[in-house]
Amino acid sequence: GFTDAPSMPWFGMDIGGSLCKLVYFEPKDITKDEADSEVETLRNIRRYLTKNSAYGKTGHRDTHLQMDDVYIRGRRGTLHFIRFPSSEMVNFLALAKSKGMANLVTTVCATGGGAFKFEEDFRREVNMKLEKFDEFDSLLKGLQFADAQNPSECYYWANPTDDACCSKVKYDFSNPYPFLIVNIGSGVSVLAVYSATDYKRISGTSLGGGTFLGLCCLLTGCNTFEEAIQLAAEGDNTRVDKLVRDIYGGDYERFGLPGDLVASSFSGFSFGQMNSREKRSKVSRQDLARATLVTITNNIGSIARMCAIQEKIDRVVFMGNFLRVNPIAMKLLAYAMNYWSKGTMKALFLEHEGYFGAIGCLLQFHE
Ligand code: ADP
Repeated sequence: GFTDAPSMPWFGMDIGGSLCKLVYFEPKDITKDEADSEVETLRNIRRYLTKNSAYGKTGHRDTHLQMDDVYIRGRRGTLHFIRFPSSEMVNFLALAKSKGMANLVTTVCATGGGAFKFEEDFRREVNMKLEKFDEFDSLLKGLQFADAQNPSECYYWANPTDDACCSKVKYDFSNPYPFLIVNIGSGVSVLAVYSATDYKRISGTSLGGGTFLGLCCLLTGCNTFEEAIQLAAEGDNTRVDKLVRDIYGGDYERFGLPGDLVASSFSGFSFGQMNSREKRSKVSRQDLARATLVTITNNIGSIARMCAIQEKIDRVVFMGNFLRVNPIAMKLLAYAMNYWSKGTMKALFLEHEGYFGAIGCLLQFHE
């Protein structure tokens, strides 16, 4: 029987600085006996979560990421992936309460800073105890699980600079060690991973996905990540940045710096051919969004490369929700890692990009 497994519902939660990621295991092997003894609240919650893909005003289920036929603790089921802004936690708890969540005696596995910040709210509002796990342990466990379950989890970008023939190519990550993780969330953490259990956090930067979104909103007046990415897709950073060719008139050949390389981000206004007011008037919100995206992405790529050199590692796995609906950043990272390492380093990406912490949390659940 299933007597040694913790009671349903099974959730894993990663409450980050920007987004809360929720993974829900929907059992698909419920026996008649189990269904008969199942409390109604539990059945209602399962139905609510699996029949909808929007929850309240700001909760979304990423249906394209759903994983079917997974086995966890001997149970067969489906993993569902849900996200909402961490700033909406109070509303989310009210929603959970209205669905009867407080009637179930439950423990939810949680990681991320919000597992500490919101612990008391969970207990008070929905009678939930948070079992807390380390976010990097969870990240790694979630990554290992997803890669083992999903044959097309890991991929790289072929021909990243050629819009016509660039493509996602499946990467066999079954023999992964050692590798570098660059997790681009609100901020950035870099981990060097030597084996399934041996890893260390070697670096990080506060200039991350949150910085991109914050600066982009300030510069363009946009209000959402999706809008910021859409603007960037329509913009041209070379109208904002100062390129090597703006300084040299072409390539800086002696040190192999191509003319179209950004020499100085956001400084295309300071000197140059046109007077700066004239040049500034040629710049659009789209150009500013693109320049912000390129600045943040290239800075992360350069930190990633230095870390890889220092650790003598040649595969770098980029993850985190900054990469969500963001092929521009992924392709830029793919190109930059390859170009500046003279082809010795490879940038890898993952389909469940922002969910590994939450997955890993669910897997560590014991009761
Ligand atoms: P954290 O755990 O710090 O919240 P995530 O991996 O969830 O980190 O990534 C957060 C980043 O993802 C944001 O800073 C933003 O750049 C990007 N992002 C992607 N989609 C969204 C969204 N719908 N709302 C807010 N930020 C988003």
